[in-house]
Amino acid sequence: MDVAALVSGVLDGDRRSVARAISAVEDGAPELAELSAGVYPATGGAATIGVTGAPGVGKSTLAAELVRRARGDDLPVAVLAVDPTSPYTGGALLGDRVRMQEHATDPAVFIRSMATRGHLGGMALAAPEAVRILDAAGYRRVIVETVGVGQAEVDVAAATDTALVVLAPGMGDAVQMAKAGILEAADVFVVNKGDREGAGEVARDLRQMLHLGAARDWEPPVLLTSATEREGIDELWNAVEEHRGHLAATGALEAKRRARLLREVESLAAERFRERVARALEADPALARRLAERELDPYAAAETLSG
Ligand code: GDP
Repeated sequence: MDVAALVSGVLDGDRRSVARAISAVEDGAPELAELSAGVYPATGGAATIGVTGAPGVGKSTLAAELVRRARGDDLPVAVLAVDPTSPYTGGALLGDRVRMQEHATDPAVFIRSMATRGHLGGMALAAPEAVRILDAAGYRRVIVETVGVGQAEVDVAAATDTALVVLAPGMGDAVQMAKAGILEAADVFVVNKGDREGAGEVARDLRQMLHLGAARDWEPPVLLTSATEREGIDELWNAVEEHRGHLAATGALEAKRRARLLREVESLAAERFRERVARALEADPALARRLAERELDPYAAAETLSG
């Protein structure tokens, strides 16, 4: 792989280069370090939006509507659909869905599903690098959609500037969400399928629950949308922009991004360390025997391996 050519392709916004670079991230390709070094200085211009929520609530339909809204402002926009818990996307992610197809021919829209075939540390580490590639390629909004509401999904969504948590009537209630620790991760709540019965109730329950929590610097709004009817999309878009504006004005955006980078570096370093220990273990077949024969105690063994 000619990494220098790939990097310059990404920086030029060449779609094929962007796709190849993201594949390299998925595969945990050995060239990743060089690729990352090449694109990193060109990042920071994209606003990132996480979209999480139970399957079927309408995340993908909403994401397509946000794409439409971004294009209305002439903003180049990318969508990254990730399944943090599976090594394969299974082909059923949003890139294949009907509404997204409408954007498929727009050169300023990039849509991609992502799995982690080989990336150490899984999606929590792969997704931020893929987002940076899209950022460096010139997409001004990067929407990161996850498939479910597990901890891994919440982590991925929370690694964006603005995390949307999507609910819909009849698909899990606010109490369940609270238990899963998702309420804290949300910057904006979206009750989608507003055209369906019970949507108003879901929104009301949620607002009530939020009022019970500690007062926060940013009170996450609860918005009603109907993605299929294209209702409430402008309001949602405005809330996302407003949230980021609020973060920027208070200095919290820089702080959030900085903390995110540090966490990522820590995870990357920990991954490296784990690898090194595994290699050291492999290289020392006598260790198991020495432990078994009480020649060496576990603490001393750990010290040898981690030194
Ligand atoms: P995801 O699994 O969360 O990405 O959900 P999808 O976007 O694939 O939507 C699941 C189903 O709900 C699809 O059949 C959509 O057409 C439908 N859907 C999405 N948004 C709405 C909405 O606002 N109202 C109604 N009635 N259906 C919706």
